[in-house]
Amino acid sequence: MPDDCLFCRIVRGEIPVLLVAQNDHAVAFRDINPQAPVHVLVVPRRHVKSLAEAADASELGAIALLAAQVARQEGIEQGGYRVVMNTGADGGQSVAHLHMHLLGGRPMSWPPG
Ligand code: 5GP
Ligand code: ZN
Repeated sequence: MPDDCLFCRIVRGEIPVLLVAQNDHAVAFRDINPQAPVHVLVVPRRHVKSLAEAADASELGAIALLAAQVARQEGIEQGGYRVVMNTGADGGQSVAHLHMHLLGGRPMSWPPG
């Protein structure tokens, strides 16, 4: 749990966020720079650098299920939504603590940029 990791600090409550939901493995909070009407980040409580380093299936499952729960809570389940895990440099990952983006509330285009 690196002292200087932004999302570890958020999980520890050292940096204020708009908390949306949490479970034993994961915490969900609003993205500071939302790209859609609903833009929530779901992160593991434990420091994991990216999907490439992930090894715990129940932890990953808890992240995905929390994203689905938040989508329900936020009223975007019926309209649909997108989940994204930017991974590494080419994936566009800017914070080196695994996170799932939950985006919804507007139609999404494909392919992504
Ligand atoms: P990435 O680019 O790594 O896939 O996503 C990182 C996300 O973290 C970005 O969407 C960015 O807006 C968000 N973010 C960066 N710093 C903060 C912060 O201090 N608080 C919150 N709530 N989100 C942040
Ligand atoms: Zn971390």
